[in-house]
Amino acid sequence: MTLRSPSRAPFVFSWVHDRLFAVPIGGFFVATKKKGRVMQKLRILAITGHDDDLTLHCGGLIIELLERGHEITPIIMTLGQRGQRFPQFGNGLAWEVRKAETRAAYATMGMTPNFVHTRYEQECDIDARSRDEMKRLVADLEPHMFLAHWPVDVNPDHRAGAVLAMEPAFQRNVNTELIFFKPHSAGRETAMTRPQVTCFIPTHYLPLREEVIEIKRRSVIHHVSQDPEAMLIGQQKVQEEDAEELRAHFPNFLPGVTEVEAYIRGNRAGALLPELADILYPTPYLLPRSVVRHDPKVYGVDAPSTL
Ligand SMILES: [Zn+2]
Repeated sequence: MTLRSPSRAPFVFSWVHDRLFAVPIGGFFVATKKKGRVMQKLRILAITGHDDDLTLHCGGLIIELLERGHEITPIIMTLGQRGQRFPQFGNGLAWEVRKAETRAAYATMGMTPNFVHTRYEQECDIDARSRDEMKRLVADLEPHMFLAHWPVDVNPDHRAGAVLAMEPAFQRNVNTELIFFKPHSAGRETAMTRPQVTCFIPTHYLPLREEVIEIKRRSVIHHVSQDPEAMLIGQQKVQEEDAEELRAHFPNFLPGVTEVEAYIRGNRAGALLPELADILYPTPYLLPRSVVRHDPKVYGVDAPSTL
């Protein structure tokens, strides 16, 4: 299966933040792209609870972003000691094993991990110090986009990572991109794979190209201590189920796509950055928004007049 780039494929459904560029055809909205808009190189801060979260749950988006020359800084808050699934990797050894695996997995996608587990090897805390550290990191990096866990998650490290990402994302600017990904747990039996989040109503989908699926698989394989075979079974199941669910609701949306990644865009306001609109497809779902008018002069953003 070869997909056309989203920028060339027709959008069958779009939603409020694309209405400015949409024309109604046959009862549907077909979005048209802004002409002549210059794409910028995005700085993206990805904050995760564990080393394998980015590989497994949003590797497709990472690969697509890196292919377009955007810069991703991945921060791994813990090495998952508290939830250690394989006790044969005893303490200090487990850290080194998992770090080496993660470096190889990330290298396959084209990036380098940053571990901050020295204080959080057991768990990720939300306290004044960790919040200040995150704010300083954000002040240094000045990211255009945050990639983070959805906060309603069964795993405490995921929840903590989500909160630490949300705070600076919301404080920076009303339209700083805040994109949540959707973790799942996986087992060797397909039936053992289950979501780790609730209340996850995707606002965007990433259709997965065959090449991207393959890079993702080659990346996951490096997490040897985490039973990558089980991870791959779970990953494929979730990606296929998301594509099925998408088609069950919207039969004409992304025809021919068999696997997708699902995301929630949590920005306070503003249109999706064109660099992301080139990759992500908006669903008809949207988080609740204020209906007040946003004055671009006040917010410094290219915001629609109503959201
Ligand atoms: Zn995790």
